[in-house]
Amino acid sequence: MRLELKKGIHQCTLIDDTYTNDLQALSIALDFMNQQQHKHIAKRKTVILSDFLQTNIPAKEIYQNVWNLLISNQIEKFVAIGEQIKVLQELENIRNAKVETYFYSDTEAFIKDFLQQKINFQNEQILIKGARKFQFDRITSYLQEKVHGTRLEINLDALVHNLKFYRSLLKPSTQIMVMVKAFAYGSGSAEVASVLQYQNVDYLAVAYTDEGVHLRENGIRLPIMVMNPSEESFDKLVQYHLEPEIYSFRILKQFLAYIAGIDSKVHIHLKIDTGMRRLGFEPSEIPLVSKLLLAHPSVRVAAAFTHLAGADEAQHNEFSLHQLHTFRTAVHQLEHLLGYSLLKHALNSAGITRWADYQMDMVRLGIGLYGIEANGLLQQHLQNVTTLKTNISQIKQIKKGETVGYGRRWIAQEDSTIGTIAIGYADGYSRRFSHGLGKVLVRNHLAPIIGSVCMDMSMIDLTGIAAEEGDEVIVFGREVSVIDLAKAIHTIPYEIFTGIGERVKRVFFSE
Ligand SMILES: *Cc1c(COP(=O)(O)O)cnc(C)c1O
Repeated sequence: MRLELKKGIHQCTLIDDTYTNDLQALSIALDFMNQQQHKHIAKRKTVILSDFLQTNIPAKEIYQNVWNLLISNQIEKFVAIGEQIKVLQELENIRNAKVETYFYSDTEAFIKDFLQQKINFQNEQILIKGARKFQFDRITSYLQEKVHGTRLEINLDALVHNLKFYRSLLKPSTQIMVMVKAFAYGSGSAEVASVLQYQNVDYLAVAYTDEGVHLRENGIRLPIMVMNPSEESFDKLVQYHLEPEIYSFRILKQFLAYIAGIDSKVHIHLKIDTGMRRLGFEPSEIPLVSKLLLAHPSVRVAAAFTHLAGADEAQHNEFSLHQLHTFRTAVHQLEHLLGYSLLKHALNSAGITRWADYQMDMVRLGIGLYGIEANGLLQQHLQNVTTLKTNISQIKQIKKGETVGYGRRWIAQEDSTIGTIAIGYADGYSRRFSHGLGKVLVRNHLAPIIGSVCMDMSMIDLTGIAAEEGDEVIVFGREVSVIDLAKAIHTIPYEIFTGIGERVKRVFFSE
């Protein structure tokens, strides 16, 4: 079974499950729907369902069970397609229920009504579930929002697999904070956060207040740390129960002054700089930090943490160890002065795999969740989460000696076949991938980028590949490793993930 989340027309969301159809699969799909539902607080729940085509049980009994399942899941609109499912019309309790119901003999009849606007969908969460014979993919294609073909597919099963892998490395008492900053490393923060909430992670962290507000507005109730709160955002921070990272006296004083003026209890997170030399209090500043905090009892320190500068490289082990010990000493002093204990944490993804003895109370999982093992040691345990895809817009035959693209920087050494693909640097496909440094997968063959990557397009060499216009192109994913691509242009997967443009459609799926 494959459940795909899709953006629908008129602010609808689609859960597309056009593969199997029986009571158990329906129940799973409805569970999935509920799991996603909190993101769509104002959305009505709709189910489009076909006949089950399993005949050994009397139709009345099957569909009565279906109906009960729909009612117990608070479905508000029900579209039934098929001859058998019509038996529901005869049932007494259906006519009296407050569910908006529609019955059609076949998919064709439904589409006809839809095109004549006799049935409309607006701001709904729609589960589309039909036996193969009913060709519900036609319904999906009408209800799906159409955008240009470049898309980032996010495999939610792989994401959960990776989360479980990191969890398996933790002591049972160690909590887990997941970094969903920068749009969850480009993957879509609200959707990823909702999966994480369902998986009961302990904390989320974002870079800015607005990112946290976005999560709250999409039904995320987990505690959320904001790493870079600004004074102008304090109102929203408190209003949305977000917890600021406090890293300097400037921000601490601003925040304490703000809190003194309102009547609210808040949690904060103190960052201690033990060697990263980025943000954070110096260990020597802890006495003064504590003194200021003790004067403001409505502010409670939920956690203190530090960040390792070289967790992903063995050559820095000694330095990392020094950081970890400095942190332990500093935080011990902090707890002593404050008179209560706090969550203490230091490890990012690379640190989790390298420094098992320093998990302390919590770890901060980032890139590992998204399928990259930053140390390069345990990569085989992780699954690929994101696949960036586009399509071939046009194919051309080029004569030897002709040039391709801006600046005429690629010259055909022989008669060649080239393709233009619908992705460019405005989609986050770096211009540094020009001249063969980027390679994409077409019909299982690697095709190099030729000439310079343009804003919305790039050209590839298709010579010898039996490609056709419209073909799917994999820019990165399981087959084209983002780790290798990053190396080719002297960067890291983080930059490639987070650079993927806003206009690239995110498609989430779960098998
Ligand atoms: C981004 C971030 C992390 C996660 O780092 P990864 O290398 O992606 O695991 C952890 N801690 C802090 C403070 C961060 O900013």
